[in-house]
Amino acid sequence: MSAHDRDMDCEELVELVTEYLEDALEASERTRLEEHLAGCDGCTVYLEQMRTTIRLTGMLTGDGIPAEGREALLRVFRAWRSGSQA
Ligand SMILES: [Zn+2]
Repeated sequence: MSAHDRDMDCEELVELVTEYLEDALEASERTRLEEHLAGCDGCTVYLEQMRTTIRLTGMLTGDGIPAEGREALLRVFRAWRSGSQA
């Protein structure tokens, strides 16, 4: 287990969101994730979408998010961040 003392970024949240929703994260990771969520609208929306998907499908697939969808998501986040300065 590695110690994390830096802030979580969107990519890391995407990596961890499946475990978060399965309640499989360590308390320290969960706290970092929730701290990121508190300051990131993009990830808040993403998490809600994941929750909705789980509700509709009744389960998480083993793989969580396909790599392709993950890349698209991260592009959205980056565009959102760079466009949010106005
Ligand atoms: Zn984020």
